[in-house]
Amino acid sequence: GVHFKGLLKRNWLLIATIFSVVLGISLGVLVREYASLSQLHKQYFGFPGEILMRMLKLVILPLIISSMITGVAALDSEVSGKIGLRAVVYYFSTTIIAVVLGITLVMTIKPGVSQTADHIDRAGITPNVTTVDTLLDLIRNMFPENLVQACFQQYKTKRKELDPPKVSNNNTTTIPPLTTAIMSVVENITKEYKIVGSYSDGINVLGLIVFCVAFGLVIGKMGEKGRILLEFFDALNEATMRLVNIIMCYMPVGILFLIAAKIIEVEDWEIFKKMGLYMVTVLSGLAIHATICLPLIFFVIVRKNPYTFTLGMAQALVTALMISSSSATLPVTFRCAEENNRIDKRITRFVLPVGATINMDGTALYEAVAAIFIAQLNDYHLDVGQIVTISITATVASIGAAGVPNAGLVTMVIVLTAVGLPANDVTLIVAVDWLLDRFRTMINVLGDAYGAGIVQKLSKNELERMDLISDVDVANPF
Ligand code: ASP
Repeated sequence: GVHFKGLLKRNWLLIATIFSVVLGISLGVLVREYASLSQLHKQYFGFPGEILMRMLKLVILPLIISSMITGVAALDSEVSGKIGLRAVVYYFSTTIIAVVLGITLVMTIKPGVSQTADHIDRAGITPNVTTVDTLLDLIRNMFPENLVQACFQQYKTKRKELDPPKVSNNNTTTIPPLTTAIMSVVENITKEYKIVGSYSDGINVLGLIVFCVAFGLVIGKMGEKGRILLEFFDALNEATMRLVNIIMCYMPVGILFLIAAKIIEVEDWEIFKKMGLYMVTVLSGLAIHATICLPLIFFVIVRKNPYTFTLGMAQALVTALMISSSSATLPVTFRCAEENNRIDKRITRFVLPVGATINMDGTALYEAVAAIFIAQLNDYHLDVGQIVTISITATVASIGAAGVPNAGLVTMVIVLTAVGLPANDVTLIVAVDWLLDRFRTMINVLGDAYGAGIVQKLSKNELERMDLISDVDVANPF
């Protein structure tokens, strides 16, 4: 009795959230069955969920700024460098593992072989892929000329409008595939900010991160005066996290209506039958990555039970599943990692925001599977070189994707064009993307969290040494 009550008390939010997911799904199904809502009423129905999304997005900005600056400033530059390097090595290697896993599964299950592309309708998107100028735009983006603008206005191109690019249907392209791929990555990274814009949470995250890292490094070296700023941003960070705690109380309500509205809104359920095997491939890949690959790496390095760690992240995982955006989940990810899994703030503040922006295992796996699935649908034979190209471009495409809903679908174009597949064929998989997006976002978030745990373990010596040196420690709560 007492034990059970304690468990309930500690996990009430998680329990309430899971309960509201179930309730929301049932409500959605019921409304679908028994009421026919007008378009307008459907919109009203989703309103409480819309408010939740808005609140979560609202705190991203102060959260990213305060956590990145304090994260970097609280460490000396040598330690930041080491931690950064470890994080990047982790991001890369796990992403590659996810890609290889995805390719292995899709080549074994062959979801696209029994059907052909003609059976599925193509919708009318014409993605465009091009130019060197966009590389310059990407770099421009890293140095926003106006900091305030970078916080609300996303990508702004300096490039002149070019002729509409041609997308070739065969693989006899004059540009070497890899170059095309990388250029289109850049194109898509920049394009993705336009997407962010359409989701109205357009923040130039890349630009902000670059600025905050530089600013944090400088503050860290400023001595007494720097300490004032460090304390300011540290307080800002704490205040933001307190806001997050309040928002999280609203979460069960918001999620209930978010998922119910989604279920009411979906038009075509038949497509799930047609695309069944493809979805099974993606989902089983994600499941294997989350329950075997990541936990194994975690166990080998950290020597703790990885599944307890996953459970600690449960609230963030459910959130990601419900809102399909790793950046909007970031506040919850922070809370779970720091409070349940006791990860040092000096680690989370650096590893989580950067991870939410560039580390996307789920997206990478999905991109590889989807590309090969489309090749199978088209009866298109891929040689070894092309499969290697797919793994590289899927990795880069996942880095380039923003942490917003369906971003992975857009950067998908890069992977397709790199091996000469028709870029238009992304439209074949659009219909089921809203569902797959949720699951891959969940794995993206899990990957970031594991990364924080692993980098903390690897950086144990440096962190302990710093604890000995510093007298007042604003950054470390433990
Ligand atoms: N929605 C994913 C995320 O936020 C990105 C994607 O579309 O793959 O992590």
